[in-house]
Amino acid sequence: MASTTETAAENSGDRQTHGFQAEVRELLQLMIHSLYSHKEIFLRELISNASDACDRLRFAAIAEPALVGEEAELGIRIDADPAAGTVTVTDNGIGMTRTEAIANLGTIARSGTAQFFKSLSGDAQKTSQLIGQFGVGFYSAFIVADRVEVRSRKAGEAPEAGVRWESGADGDFTVETITQAARGTSVTLHLKEDAREFADAFRLRGLIRRYSDHIGFPVRMRKEGEASLEHEVVNQAKALWTLPRTEIKDEEYRQFYQYIAHDFTDPLAWSHNKVEGKREYTSLLFLPAKAPFDLFQRDGARGLKLYVRRVFIMDDAEQFLPPYLRFVKGVVDSSDLPLNVSREILQQEPEVEAIKGGLTKRVLDLLGRLAKDEPEKYATLWKEFGAVLKEGIVQDHANQPAILGLTRFASTHQEHDNPTVSLAEYVARMSPGQDRIYYVTAETPEAARGSPAIERLRERGLEVLLLSERIDEWVMGQLHEFEGKRFKDATRGALELGGLASDADRKRHDAELKESKGLLKRVKDSLGERVTEVRVSERLRESPACLVLGEHDMGEQMRRILAAAGQKAPESHPALELNVTHPLVKYLEGMADAGQFGELAQLLYDQAALAEGTQLPNPPEYVQRLNRLLVRLAAAPAA
Ligand code: ADP
Ligand code: MG
Repeated sequence: MASTTETAAENSGDRQTHGFQAEVRELLQLMIHSLYSHKEIFLRELISNASDACDRLRFAAIAEPALVGEEAELGIRIDADPAAGTVTVTDNGIGMTRTEAIANLGTIARSGTAQFFKSLSGDAQKTSQLIGQFGVGFYSAFIVADRVEVRSRKAGEAPEAGVRWESGADGDFTVETITQAARGTSVTLHLKEDAREFADAFRLRGLIRRYSDHIGFPVRMRKEGEASLEHEVVNQAKALWTLPRTEIKDEEYRQFYQYIAHDFTDPLAWSHNKVEGKREYTSLLFLPAKAPFDLFQRDGARGLKLYVRRVFIMDDAEQFLPPYLRFVKGVVDSSDLPLNVSREILQQEPEVEAIKGGLTKRVLDLLGRLAKDEPEKYATLWKEFGAVLKEGIVQDHANQPAILGLTRFASTHQEHDNPTVSLAEYVARMSPGQDRIYYVTAETPEAARGSPAIERLRERGLEVLLLSERIDEWVMGQLHEFEGKRFKDATRGALELGGLASDADRKRHDAELKESKGLLKRVKDSLGERVTEVRVSERLRESPACLVLGEHDMGEQMRRILAAAGQKAPESHPALELNVTHPLVKYLEGMADAGQFGELAQLLYDQAALAEGTQLPNPPEYVQRLNRLLVRLAAAPAA
C-alpha cells in the first residue's frame, strides 16, 4: 500500500502537510457524498477506536505495568460544546506517536480495500450499505465534521512528544509536535452546519447508550446542570457477554452486534453461552443478515474477537470456527488460555481445538433452530451464506449430517412461497418405488431447470434438485446418501429408474434399441472419438439429443474451476444419447447423403453440448453448419 506523500514542510515549528493516500481520498469523498443515512455511526466508530486503544494499553501493561502508571483506570470521555459546535472523544489508552498518526490516519492498511472499491456500483443506497460493511473507522468523523483535530500521546513517551493532527478532508492533513500532558488520544470534530445536533448532550447520551452501552470501559460525560465540571458514567461499561443472559434485553444484543460487526443491520439470531467445568469459556455468537463483500476472498476479515479473562487479545481470531462458518461474528472469552497467546500459538493449542468443536456445534444448533422456528429468516441466511455453509459438507465429516439437514436446494417442485427445499422434504415426498435423490448441476438455475437430461424425470413427476453454484459439483461428488437414499446425478451414467420403470417402458426401450442399431452405429462412426458411445436415451422427451458423462468423469463446473486455476483438466468423452422418436433424429435416419448426415449428426452433438452449458470450441463453425441446414430447408419445396 502506498504511503502518504510529504508535500511541504510548513513554517510553524515542525508542522508538516501530508497528502492522504489515494484510497483514503476516495473513501472520504464517498462518505461525505453518499452516506446520508446513519450519520450517527461516526460516534460508534470513534468510541470503538477509543475502546481499542484502552484494550491495547491494558494488554501492553501486562508485560510493562509502568505504562499505565498513576492513571490506572482506563476510560473514555465525551465532551460537547453546542456553542462552538464541537464534540470531543477522549481516551487515556495507548495513544499514537507522530509517525503512527501519519500512518494510521492517512492510509488504509486493511486488505480488501481494492475489492471494496471494485464492488461499488454508483448506487447511493448500496454504497451506503457497503461503506457500513467495510467498517468506516476513523474517517467516518468527516461524515459530520468539516474539520477534525486529533491530539495524542503514546503511553510511555514523554509529555513533550505529543502530536497534533488536523484535516479539513480536502486531500491533505497536517501534523505537528505538541506538548500533550495527558496520555492517550482526543479527537475533536468541528461539526458541519447540518450536523450540529450532535453537539447536543442529550442526543449524545442516547447514542452512547445505543451503540456503546456494553463496551468494557466507562464512557463519561459532563453531569447535567449548569457549569458542572464533574463527569459521570453514562454507559453500563460492563462487557455484555460477561452478564447473565437473563439480564440482557434483545435490543442490547442487537446493539452489541452492530457495535462489534460495524453493521447497520440487525443480526438474524445469536447464541450466548457460558461453559463451566474442566474448561471455561464464554461465547456470544451472531448470525448476520447480510454477506460482507469479502466473503469469498481468501484474505477477507473473518473470525471472532478473542478475550482472555476479559482482556482483549485480538480481532479476527479465525481459529475458533471452521472456514465454512466464517460468516459468524462474535466474541469468545477464555479463562484457560495464556494472556500472551499469539496467532501462532492459537494454531497449536489443543484448548483452541476443543473450543472450536464446541462453538461449531453451537452455531449448527443455532442454525437448526432458526431453520425450524423462523424459516423466513433462515431463507435470508441461506441466500446470503448458503454457498459458504455448503463447503462444510466436504470439510467437516463429523458434522456432515447436521449440515446436510441445513442445506437447501432449488427444485423442480419448489413452490412460489418457498423457493427452496430441504432433503427431508424431498425424501418425504418421493414417489412410491423411487429410491434415488435426483439432481442436476448446471451453470445457472435456469440451465439446470431446462436440462434435457431431466425431461423424462419431469414427465414422470419426479422431483429433481437444481444445483447451480460454483462448488456444487465438487460438493455433490463427495456426497453419497441421505437417510439411506442414494444421490443420483441425472446427467451421468444410467438414469437408475429402478422400480419406477414399468414393463411397458422397458419393452418400448428394447424395441427402440433394436430398430435404431443401424442409426446409432452411423452416428458413432461419423462423430468418432468425440463420444464414447451413441445410445438410445431413456432421459429425453422433447430434445433430440443430450450428452451423458460416466459416473466418475469430471464435469463442466470442475473443469472451469481447474481452468480458472490455470490447470489442465483431463479430456472428457461423454456418451451421446438420442431421442429416436424426435422428428430431427427421424430426419437424420432418413438421410442418404453421407456428408449431410455427418453435418446433422455433428449439429446434434453441438446442440447437446450447448444445452449443458459447455462452450463450443469453434462457435462460428457451428453457426455455419446450422445455416447450411436452414438454407437447404428453405430451398426445399414446402410440404
Ligand atoms: P480500525 O479501527 O479498523 O483499525 P480506523 O480507521 O477506525 O480503523 O482507525 C485506524 C487506526 O488509527 C487504528 O487502527 C489505530 O491504529 C489508529 N487510531 C484511531 N483512533 C485511535 C485512538 N483513539 N487511539 C489510538 N489509536 C487510534
Ligand atoms: Mg476503528
